[in-house]
Amino acid sequence: PTFDGLGLDPRIVANVARAGYATPSPIQALAIPPIRDGRDVEALARTGTGKTAAFALPVIHRLLTGAGDAAPSGPPGHVRALILSPTRELASQTAGTVRTCIRGCGLTVALAIGGAPKDRQARALLDGVDILVATPGRLLDHLADATITLDHTTCLVLDEADRMLDLGFVEDVRAIAARLPVRHQTLLFSATMSPAISALGRQLLHKPLQIAP
Ligand code: AMP
Repeated sequence: PTFDGLGLDPRIVANVARAGYATPSPIQALAIPPIRDGRDVEALARTGTGKTAAFALPVIHRLLTGAGDAAPSGPPGHVRALILSPTRELASQTAGTVRTCIRGCGLTVALAIGGAPKDRQARALLDGVDILVATPGRLLDHLADATITLDHTTCLVLDEADRMLDLGFVEDVRAIAARLPVRHQTLLFSATMSPAISALGRQLLHKPLQIAP
């Protein structure tokens, strides 16, 4: 398989080539087409398998085509796609990958994580952002301050869901998911599966495709 054959916008394919990715990894080959088509996906994927690009590339593609989008240029503080990470480090890394993949696409990415000044993040989010990478605690802070809104968010990614649960974020994740419109795409990526992850998946995902490369 090649990245050309996955139905992604040519700008994304060019960015992937520039990043030095020659062929899609197994998780990428399996996850990209259904995510691009708008399905909910629950994927078993450890770090190092290329899982970040597996969700980031098709999410970027959907933002470029405006799929499922009621208001691409929404109100102040709007977020089009939200990626939730368990830790600041992972969130920063993920935002870096997204930044590489959106070059030349006219899309924006921002970080909302603890340990950085909240007011500066709030100012950066004022005009809204296409892709927000956030940790649950800081995101809830911004929601409480009404510096962001998830009223127009069409895609939610739960990255490293098992670590999110281990760190005690399950109620935060539920509260955040409840702030999205009823109709939205949800992607759950986890290195391990457990009854707790399955329960969260059943609650938040709609007819998910299960992927375990
Ligand atoms: P991840 O599993 O998302 O943490 O990615 C692990 C590493 O693999 C990162 O450094 C990526 O830049 C790299 N990577 C992701 N996809 C590919 C690919 N298709 N070919 C080569 N490297 C990749």
